[in-house]
Amino acid sequence: MGRGKGHVPIRTCISCKARRNKKELIRLALNAQDQVIIDDRGNGQGRGVYVCRGKSCLSALEKRNLLSRAFRKNVVMAVNKTIIPQ
Ligand SMILES: [Zn+2]
Repeated sequence: MGRGKGHVPIRTCISCKARRNKKELIRLALNAQDQVIIDDRGNGQGRGVYVCRGKSCLSALEKRNLLSRAFRKNVVMAVNKTIIPQ
């Protein structure tokens, strides 16, 4: 009882640094090939980073190379075409 209500996990967007309810953010993680994937379930293993769903934050990921910095290695933007609105 009470679990999930009242306790709201807060995460920081790596793009704009806004602190938001985790549910409002997209969790990104790496797969075995160092490709960035959307971690829909939010419980993937390893390091995960969070970004707002807004286009400006998503497009900044690539423009400012935020993912490679966040994951501290060179990663492939596997999610780019699927999450960034055209
Ligand atoms: Zn943001």
